[in-house]
Amino acid sequence: MAKCVMVLYPDPVDGYPPTYARDTIPVLDSYPDGSTLPTPSGIDFTPGELLGCVSGALGLRRFFADAGYELVVTSDKDGPDSVFERELPDADIVISQPFWPAYLSAERIAKAPKLKLALTAGIGSDHVDLDAAKARGITVAEETYSNSISVAEHTVMQTLALVRNFVPSHRYAVDGGWNIADCVSRAYDVEGMDFGVIAAGRIGRAVLERMKPFGVHLHYTDIHRLPDAVERDLGLTFHPDVASLAAAVDIVSVHSPLYAGTRGMFDATLLNSMRRGAYLVNTARAEETVPEAIVAALESGQLAGYAGDVWHPQPPAPDHPWRRMPHQAMTPHVSGSTLSAQARYAAGTREILEDWLAGRPIRPEYLIVADGALAGTGARSYR
Ligand code: NAD
Repeated sequence: MAKCVMVLYPDPVDGYPPTYARDTIPVLDSYPDGSTLPTPSGIDFTPGELLGCVSGALGLRRFFADAGYELVVTSDKDGPDSVFERELPDADIVISQPFWPAYLSAERIAKAPKLKLALTAGIGSDHVDLDAAKARGITVAEETYSNSISVAEHTVMQTLALVRNFVPSHRYAVDGGWNIADCVSRAYDVEGMDFGVIAAGRIGRAVLERMKPFGVHLHYTDIHRLPDAVERDLGLTFHPDVASLAAAVDIVSVHSPLYAGTRGMFDATLLNSMRRGAYLVNTARAEETVPEAIVAALESGQLAGYAGDVWHPQPPAPDHPWRRMPHQAMTPHVSGSTLSAQARYAAGTREILEDWLAGRPIRPEYLIVADGALAGTGARSYR
């Protein structure tokens, strides 16, 4: 019997299902660029349900049973005795999520001789060793666009939280204080600031569009330049590289994929080239920074604030320095896993599986690696 191993984050501590705050989620017509939302032949869940945890199983339990697959769903993913590593040797398909990544290293891929499809429920497949996947002919795919707007919204929220000094001010309110001077002595308006994104793909561009009404000067760098009309409409300043952008802005937001060319990008040298008191927001991948350099820049005042939702490893240890560094507004890796996003990436996962099992081509925009090479979105966005 063929087998799928699905690694998802643990259920809520109060049990599953949770009590939902709302009865419905909005129905969207298409993604912002006009591309179609996921098109599975059907879904076995109600949009708005918690699907990304073990009991939610991406709404795919019945689908795998009908397909004659054994399905193992677990959150136990790290170490040689983990369920994931024990089940890997006869897995045909692995499904994981960036929020609780089952790291598919070259060593683990070598232990999975039957593995043919590594699916990311979400966006960002850097937890898979893409070179090892290429070498083994494993297809790597994800649900492009499914949570891009979710992340863009989180980015804007964290930008405002940092610049307006929201987190300490909220804490004073909860703790019974009224410390206006303490709250405002690190609070500014974003209006008039220079705001730049590293990468203006689906998320980066959506962030630029959402920041425009705040009256900021917008900057970007990307290996693909945006169309002239978009640059004009948004009033964008293009920078040929990261160094040029970092030196020219008050706020940087990172939206590039993680690969060799972006790993460790925000090191001490780049951070020290920024304006004193700049803010850095990173909802892309933690490994695009040097973590200790971020802590040092916050402690010295070179950075006025750091926020994001991506860490390394995930989950981070209880004593990870980013949990306690000053002037930060970190969250766990949640921006792309709202209930709204889950409905889209669960449906997209099913769409990919239906095509895969029927021997039909997977939508090119969902592909990261196929036939031994970067493909689709992977070929455009990774190097
Ligand atoms: P996308 O493929 O639409 O855009 C990626 C962009 O990065 C492309 O425009 C590409 O040209 C650009 N790029 C690649 N290398 C670059 C470099 N060295 N310098 C500048 N630009 C570069 O992807 P997206 O949907 O916008 O997602 C971007 C990344 O965000 C993902 O790869 C993932 O790591 C991360 N992400 C995080 C979450 C989350 O929950 N925090 C969710 C989704 C995606």
